[in-house]
Amino acid sequence: MKPYLQYLVILLDDTSVAYCHANNPLTEPKLIPLDTLRKAILFGMKQNLMIQFVYPNYELPVEYHKVIESIDHIKIGREVLVYDSVPQMAYTNNLVLRLTINEFITKQNDIASLLQQAKRINICLTDTENFQEEQMEEYKNALATLNAVLLNLYKQVKSPQLNILTDRMQLTEMHNCGAGISNITIAPNGKFYLCPAFYYDEQMGISNRMNHKTKDASRSVGDLDNGIDIPNKQLLQLDHAPLCRICDAYHCKRCIWLNQKMTWDNNTPSRQQCVLAHLERNAARDLQLALKEVGYLIKNEIKEITYLDPFDIKEEY
Ligand code: SF4
Repeated sequence: MKPYLQYLVILLDDTSVAYCHANNPLTEPKLIPLDTLRKAILFGMKQNLMIQFVYPNYELPVEYHKVIESIDHIKIGREVLVYDSVPQMAYTNNLVLRLTINEFITKQNDIASLLQQAKRINICLTDTENFQEEQMEEYKNALATLNAVLLNLYKQVKSPQLNILTDRMQLTEMHNCGAGISNITIAPNGKFYLCPAFYYDEQMGISNRMNHKTKDASRSVGDLDNGIDIPNKQLLQLDHAPLCRICDAYHCKRCIWLNQKMTWDNNTPSRQQCVLAHLERNAARDLQLALKEVGYLIKNEIKEITYLDPFDIKEEY
């Protein structure tokens, strides 16, 4: 992950689709004013950022299209489709499935059949915080089911991607979400947030647990008039994260919103996040070994490890 800003996420509406861990609790449409949208795009252009527009589930007024099309971008909620379930068909090559852990386990065969149709599936678990160690075996088994399907497709010289299994095979360093580091979000109110989840919290009056300057529920880190202002921004960085910097679950989202929610600290992950990421990392290793077995040339071999949470091995470092 490059330690500088590369992406600008623009929430076009309060009801724009949630595409990551946090659900969007906002139900009243509130479209970004056209003028704010223009300013946000100008900010992105000046900073040379790739823009990701996040769409609501309704058609935007026609005058918005021209402004949006004035710059290169990705459309989340349109080109990248986001589902809170597992659809029967992949209507796009790149989709996000937001599922609870139990939904992921029970729908593993449906996900397997989607893998035959899409180029990339991103699984995003929406209840990581509720993960119980008793679910570990079932989660591992579901990953093994998907590994078997991937192996079969790779043998047919197809190469679909499933973020939680195939990303780790390619990575040689951390490639996490990067909220507040490689990407920043602008909400319809023209303010910056580390990611959409912080905007949702503010709008729901969930009080400030960050090292912010205000005592209210404000979670913004600047605005379009005054620029980005992240207090103690070094605390978001990997080198200030004692557990993550010794970890090799490189594909892990390292979600700072989840960290705050679970440990009240931006850079300290919960055990749940780490154990799930390590089950995926180990399953990626199994897939890598199976591919090697059938003749694939493997670079970046994933090592065998004996822990599921770097907290358990910290004394060794
Ligand atoms: S698995 Fe845990 S320690 Fe490793 S990157 Fe993810 S949150 Fe950090």
